[in-house]
Amino acid sequence: MTEDLRDFIRHRIRDDLRADAVERVVTRFPPEPNGFLHIGHAKSICLNFGVAQEFGGATFLRYDDTNPLRESEEFVESIQRDIAWLGFGWEGPTFASDYFEQLYDFAEQLIERGKAFVCSLPASGIRSTRGTLTEPGTDSPYRNRSVAENLDLFRRMRAGEFADGAHVLRARIDMASPNVNMRDPVLYRIRHANHHRTGDDWCIYPMYDFTHCICDALEGISHSLCTLEFEDHRPLYDWVLDNIAINYHPPQIEFSRLGLEYTVMSKRLFSALVEGGHVTGWDDPRMPTLAGMRRRGYPPTAIREFCRRIGVTKADGTIEYEFLEFCVRRDLETGAVRAMAVLDPLRVVLTNYEGEGEMLPAPWHPQQPDRGMREMTFSATLYIEREDFSENPPPKYRRLTPGGMVRLRYAYIIVCEEVVKNGAGEIEELRCRYVGESKSGSDTSGLKPRGVIHWVDAASAIPADVRLFERLFHDPRPGSDDFIDALNPNSMGVARAVVEPAIVASDDECFQFERTGYFVKDNRDYRGDAPVFNRTVSLRDSYKPDKS
Ligand code: ATP
Ligand code: MG
Repeated sequence: MTEDLRDFIRHRIRDDLRADAVERVVTRFPPEPNGFLHIGHAKSICLNFGVAQEFGGATFLRYDDTNPLRESEEFVESIQRDIAWLGFGWEGPTFASDYFEQLYDFAEQLIERGKAFVCSLPASGIRSTRGTLTEPGTDSPYRNRSVAENLDLFRRMRAGEFADGAHVLRARIDMASPNVNMRDPVLYRIRHANHHRTGDDWCIYPMYDFTHCICDALEGISHSLCTLEFEDHRPLYDWVLDNIAINYHPPQIEFSRLGLEYTVMSKRLFSALVEGGHVTGWDDPRMPTLAGMRRRGYPPTAIREFCRRIGVTKADGTIEYEFLEFCVRRDLETGAVRAMAVLDPLRVVLTNYEGEGEMLPAPWHPQQPDRGMREMTFSATLYIEREDFSENPPPKYRRLTPGGMVRLRYAYIIVCEEVVKNGAGEIEELRCRYVGESKSGSDTSGLKPRGVIHWVDAASAIPADVRLFERLFHDPRPGSDDFIDALNPNSMGVARAVVEPAIVASDDECFQFERTGYFVKDNRDYRGDAPVFNRTVSLRDSYKPDKS
């Protein structure tokens, strides 16, 4: 057990353990299976699983599956895949639906105690009598039904005698409470819908506020950690547990949600992007879902480090996207091997090169010799990056120019002698001389070129599609109503690139393509003969975080 008291929740847990207020730390991560997890969930996962690990406890994965219309097995599976990918293991999984029978019994108990009643107002009537933040609500005309009548109606609700919306079960608390959540909130509603696990067993479903606290108590959760929007629900959490016969009452503790610039953060909104065809799926590499980030090449360790660095507080804030990218880059800096790819190829012909089958050794990672070497073929026709040549170079240009020289990384110095253009005046090819005695590692030429550029040998180059991404939204703070308008129409471009064959042959998935960024093999679209890569993040690293 390592004690790391880096936030108020960890302090609280340590204090509770010291005071013997809890025996063992038990947390839960309670997603609704109505979509894929996103980076906001990662914050909650790292917190819940993190504290349990640090204090020698356990974490339940509990699906909050009380809304049959939006939930599915596909989402249940994706959630487990993503939590496992982040590196955490869980107790269970359990499902709120596992407890439907017990929940129902507790609801009857509330009725018997005069603490709940069947209300036959339509949804609009419930809404219009709820009052406002400044005015109290008014009592439902059904509020004083007898226990016997309530029990009878509730049992018939369960038996399927009524249509959706005909009745609801409401807590009987206080319509004048300053907290709107305490104004006789709905506990059960009728929904004739097939549930992904319980099928047609039920046609009434419990509401979140009734379900969640009871599941927490039944699972012996020691600290129920949730986001700040539930702060106003805490009195209801406590009310339910105080008014049923249950001998355990977990504390609810709130922390702030993660917000990230240039994206929305909600399964419901992401679902609209997927269903509207604005992205290719939940795991589109532009999506801030964990599946999208995995496909984009974000290492799970980088996401965990991001969550550790942003910390846990009660202050709402929106994190800069650059900070996430900074964490990804730092992780890949040591994690990803190096290789060469030319994204916008320009052909170079070496007029004086007569070698055949020459192989040049190049390290997979210059700072990590233990990662070994690969061999690069070299021949008289090569590709360099179109932007690494300039006919009219700006001052301090350190790449190739007419008559100028440059070093090809891990190979030779070349000198540009002729620029070949097509009829439209576009550069088609450079004709260059190579300097034989300038071979990397045994350079006796005495020449000092100002620049080093990357290249790929045309003889062995493999054509590849390389996807380059921009932000999915052009607006740093897209609103949840008009977020479709905030989409960036240019968020994905494809470059017809060439890559060195060692990349394709390697078992590695993440690469730094020298000078162009970090890339990952696309694990869905990748084929051996037509490789596809996603750019994870560029190399540019101007971001300076203030905390470390
Ligand atoms: P969404 O709107 O994306 O569905 P949610 O809060 O309804 O979000 P749940 O499936 O209920 O999603 O979430 C499971 C857990 O993840 C909850 O405890 C919730 O508080 C937490 N969570 C969700 N979004 C964030 C976020 N942006 N930052 C931190 N925790 C989050
Ligand atoms: Mg939700």
